[in-house]
Amino acid sequence: MQLLKEYGSYINGEFVYGEKSFPCINPANGKPIAQIRGADAEIVDNAVAAARNAFQTFGKTTRVERANLLRAMADRMEQNSEYLAKAECLDTGKPLGEACIHVGCCVEMYRYFASAIEAREETGICHDNGSISLVVREPLGVAGLIVAWNCPPMLLAWKLAPALAMGNTVVIKPSASAVLGIMEAIRIWDDILPKGVVNVVLGAGKEIGDQITNHPGISKLSFTGSVEMGRKIGAIAGERIIPATLELGGKSAAVIFEDANLERALQKTLIGILSSAGEVCVANARVLVQDTVYDRFLSMLKEKFEGAVIGDPMNAGTQIGAVINEAHMEKVLGYIETGKKEGAALICGGERYTENGCADGYFIQPTLFGDVKNTMTIAKEEIFGPVLCVMRFTDEADALQQANDSVYGLGAAVWTENIHRAIRMGRGLEAGMVWINDYLDCAAGNPFGGYKSSGLGREVNQMALDHYSQVKNICISDDEGVPMVW
Ligand code: NAD
Repeated sequence: MQLLKEYGSYINGEFVYGEKSFPCINPANGKPIAQIRGADAEIVDNAVAAARNAFQTFGKTTRVERANLLRAMADRMEQNSEYLAKAECLDTGKPLGEACIHVGCCVEMYRYFASAIEAREETGICHDNGSISLVVREPLGVAGLIVAWNCPPMLLAWKLAPALAMGNTVVIKPSASAVLGIMEAIRIWDDILPKGVVNVVLGAGKEIGDQITNHPGISKLSFTGSVEMGRKIGAIAGERIIPATLELGGKSAAVIFEDANLERALQKTLIGILSSAGEVCVANARVLVQDTVYDRFLSMLKEKFEGAVIGDPMNAGTQIGAVINEAHMEKVLGYIETGKKEGAALICGGERYTENGCADGYFIQPTLFGDVKNTMTIAKEEIFGPVLCVMRFTDEADALQQANDSVYGLGAAVWTENIHRAIRMGRGLEAGMVWINDYLDCAAGNPFGGYKSSGLGREVNQMALDHYSQVKNICISDDEGVPMVW
């Protein structure tokens, strides 16, 4: 397989090339890799029509048939994992090793939902009056799946696997900033996807996004992206009375107590903030350290930040690749300037990185701020870059207060050897995912989703099957008598 020069939308099993064209840029060197031929209103309409038509058949397939499709998709990804990882690496600037892990997660996700749908049992209820309810779940119809640019194939797998498992058909809208990873997956699945079941429309959200979310042919929205956009999409879903799953941003806190295994906490914290150059919704962007070990842990972080290998994402030794594009790089650098102005102590980093062949790409030095307060912009807002805010706390109550002082509630971590404290903190932290002595374990089965403004609904676990289906109660009477009421 080879990357294409042009990518078009995918409708009813055909690639469709719209008039609007924009380049796909490699963030590691600023050079175009391919042209994207975006969708117009007619193409979007055709995608929804194809999905609705395919739903007539696909919605009636058996669970085993759908599980077999998901397993075939997983197998294809596994057979092409190196190729898919390279496409993702060129598209997003993340290191190849990380892109390989993400492809592995996709494979796992399609297999997990294949098994989940096969094992799923419907329920029955025996009522006191003798009647029996058969409670069945039925697919919703066409689901609109809208994803962010940071890890597109993985974010898509979290939605597409449960959507197909329940018998829905889909229209996918990748971010215009990263389409290659998803389109290359579509190419390798092309001959196994039943026509019209999976459709993709390419283009900018502001051009085709509203049409998708407001389209009467779409019965379910599933969105991964910013809080700002999630709020709009949730409002549209509310207006239309259709369900919406919202996976939004975060400003997750890792709380490190003095009795923690600091070496392990260090390694996992680095993974939590520097993976994908910090472009991770659940990045542990605020690290709260107990004041007794604060200086020691800060200097451990500094040493690792200063020693991180920044460079070509395709090189095996690279630890930090490029951020997605120039505009995002400027935004992250802007936050760093704000942090300095608002009085945070810049410990290291803070600049664009231009050495080691990186001058033409969008690279940022891993940046460490100490003595950060929750009142500062860099602690309040999601930066989505390799920028870590380190804060001090005195005791458990102080740690909880500071960690929960955020509009977000996606992830959190507690680092301690004290099981009682770990449980107390785990219960007290306002986040959808709390890791104890760990970070970023998102293996299939871990419910993924946020508290507060970080979202609605859960992915990665079989409970997502409920988000792509609706309940039908078939109530059967055992009474043959004729009620003489009228
Ligand atoms: P974004 O909100 O700008 O865009 C997300 C998607 O929405 C893109 O596909 C975009 O094209 C589309 N869109 C834009 N305007 C639209 C409109 N009017 N109607 C419909 N769709 C529209 O977010 P982003 O910059 O692509 O991604 C970064 C954000 O995503 C961060 O906040 C990050 O935390 C979040 N994120 C969350 C998770 C999670 O699982 N919670 C995972 C990854 C990323």
